Amino acid sequence: MSRFWSATVRALQPYVPGEQPRLANLVKLNTNENPYGPSPRALAAMQAEIQDTLRLYPDPESVRLREAIAQFFGEISIQQVFVGNGSDEVLAHIFLALLKQDKPILFPDITYSFYPVYCGLYGIDYRTVPLDEHFALSIADYRPPNGGIIFPNPNAPTGRVLPRAQIAALAAANPDSVVVVDEAYIDFGGETAVPLVHRFPNLLVVQTFSKSRALAGLRVGFAIGHHELIEALNRVKNSFNSYPLDRVAQAGATAAIEDREWFDQTRQAVMRTRAILTGELETLGFEVLPSAANFVFARHPHHDAERLAQALRSRGIIVRHFRQPRIEQFLRITVGSDAQCATLIAALREILSA
Ligand SMILES: *Cc1c(COP(=O)(O)O)cnc(C)c1O
Repeated sequence: MSRFWSATVRALQPYVPGEQPRLANLVKLNTNENPYGPSPRALAAMQAEIQDTLRLYPDPESVRLREAIAQFFGEISIQQVFVGNGSDEVLAHIFLALLKQDKPILFPDITYSFYPVYCGLYGIDYRTVPLDEHFALSIADYRPPNGGIIFPNPNAPTGRVLPRAQIAALAAANPDSVVVVDEAYIDFGGETAVPLVHRFPNLLVVQTFSKSRALAGLRVGFAIGHHELIEALNRVKNSFNSYPLDRVAQAGATAAIEDREWFDQTRQAVMRTRAILTGELETLGFEVLPSAANFVFARHPHHDAERLAQALRSRGIIVRHFRQPRIEQFLRITVGSDAQCATLIAALREILSA
């Protein structure tokens, strides 16, 4: 704290990202990164971009990338696509452009912990809506008058997913609010709400290249919705940073979304490993919530989660533990490679029998 800090900065409660330790050889299962790495075509496209043209600014509109995203989904026009420096930046612009309203916005009590941080940054009033006792989100609970609704689908850190029909029902029940669906994990077993944007001008879908396309280090996210919602995001973007995506990121993300084969192979592999990991954890006595994401959320009836996380860490395995009411006995474990998951299970077996 310094006397030079503005009142805004004094009041901030910043987000704390999962740790990125500098030690090599750790089994890093704490931030939902993809074990398989980016598409080789994306890597080649990025390497080709490292050249003299880097002296020039990138395309401020990221037209090629937005075309490739529109094409990936089909029946989407480029005017319905917004791209940003990671979906965290896309979300930040959404909070300012669309969710800062007179009425409070709604999101689940257990959800992505960046949402309340954006509310703090922009002075947005919010109410949290409790998940049910099985940590499921019930759209019937999102009826109160509100200035907007946002949640991840699948939810984080629970992994539980809502079918597309429920998203449609929610958008239909709240015609005067923007409904934002943060689909960071949708490619690991959920149904995207993107096709619904034609029916619902109040629906905005957010996705990222960080998880299913293994490009967390590149920082590319996007939103798809009615062109007037997208225009609001462009107004904020062009009042903040006209060039959020550099040349390398635009080239890499374009090639990544065009490489459907790598995308399908790697996400299928993650889903197969998730099934194995879930079975092994259950054999060890864990309760594992049904997950449609690249992580599982699990608790053991007889072992304290924080102590388990510490015991794993001392064996070089990092998982995520949240010191938060209702979920302090859970561990969020990223679905790594088969070998990483086997290492985790062997370590847990040892710890539980000690
Ligand atoms: C990982 C994640 C994001 C952020 O993704 P980036 O594109 O890497 O900024 C957004 N929302 C949820 C729910 C996430 O888990």
